[in-house]
Amino acid sequence: MKQGFSAGFCARNAIEERRLAELTTFRIGGPATLITVHHRDDLREALACQPLWLGKGANLLVGDAGPPRPVARLGRAFAEISERGLHDGRLLLHVGAAVDLAALLNRCLAAGWGGLEGLAGVPASIGGALRMNAGTAQRWFFDVVARVECVLPGEEQPRWLERREIPAAYRSCGLPAGTLFLGCELALTPDDPQRLRATAARLKAAKAASQPLALPSAGCVFKNPSRELPAGRLIDELGFKGARCGGAEVSTRHANFIVNPERRARAEDVVRLIRRIRRRAWQERGIALALEIETWGCPDELRADPAQLPEEET
Ligand SMILES: Cc1cc2nc3c(=O)[nH]c(=O)nc-3n(C[C@H](O)[C@H](O)[C@H](O)COP(=O)(O)OP(=O)(O)OC[C@H]3O[C@@H](n4cnc5c(N)ncnc54)[C@H](O)[C@@H]3O)c2cc1C
Repeated sequence: MKQGFSAGFCARNAIEERRLAELTTFRIGGPATLITVHHRDDLREALACQPLWLGKGANLLVGDAGPPRPVARLGRAFAEISERGLHDGRLLLHVGAAVDLAALLNRCLAAGWGGLEGLAGVPASIGGALRMNAGTAQRWFFDVVARVECVLPGEEQPRWLERREIPAAYRSCGLPAGTLFLGCELALTPDDPQRLRATAARLKAAKAASQPLALPSAGCVFKNPSRELPAGRLIDELGFKGARCGGAEVSTRHANFIVNPERRARAEDVVRLIRRIRRRAWQERGIALALEIETWGCPDELRADPAQLPEEET
């Protein structure tokens, strides 16, 4: 028996010690116990240790000492895509939360199922895309969601929630923190595969031209304060492009990205940069920048009122 799990659980699932730097796109993060849940029947036992749920790790900053709780991810039983037929001219597709968004998009493009092409180039698992309501200027993930299967905090049994019951908003599913997504049903529109492929290729090219995709990062660090003022423009105007703390750097290509160019940045370096940016945005423009990235094992101060932040470091 490993750390309180039954022998059957250990035999059917994987439990390992991993550095989260290996499992996040930022390439930052200390050690954690990582549980991969392959079987639906074992969810209850996994939920008992109140894990933090990991997808592709594309929106995460994990502290150097690791997260405060065990980490779990969904495995084989949650990695399937199945067609549920046409309803009112829309194709209903069941997608497990462990499915990779890029793999799903490729399948949709080949089959002529429209709706997800606006998310081309967004690295995500379906679970992470649901939690974050991943989106671009063209599309939010919840635009194509018909219903989701989830386990709400404090519950053990999965339940289905219809789209109208989910208060999804900009970069948020609106459901309580700790909700576990097991999968969803998407409503897609039959379309010309060539046209869909061209749209996806155009959006990916635009992303590659404006974002530092070759360097480790967690995507945009802050939410846009408004449609009119993207966070990247604000941070650029505040003079932060190229600013460094230790191994972390504000991207010279897109100021809302903090990158880890030599793969030696510590979470602490990123935290210091975030603190400086938030402090100056508040002092010079009266804007309280809110994090878009999720943080595990980092100071709570990153989400606190910027007026309370300590004086800027040099
Ligand atoms: C280069 C780059 C470009 C990016 N561009 C965009 C973009 O254009 N638009 C955009 O919206 N985002 C973008 N991002 C951020 C990221 O792609 C999204 O936030 C994505 O939704 C994260 O999915 P994930 O599976 O990696 O989630 P993770 O990073 O693994 O986790 C993020 C959050 O989701 C939770 N979570 C993960 N799986 C589950 C689950 N099964 N159930 C419940 N909660 C879960 C985690 O606990 C965590 O709170 C970008 C990131 C990178 C690195």
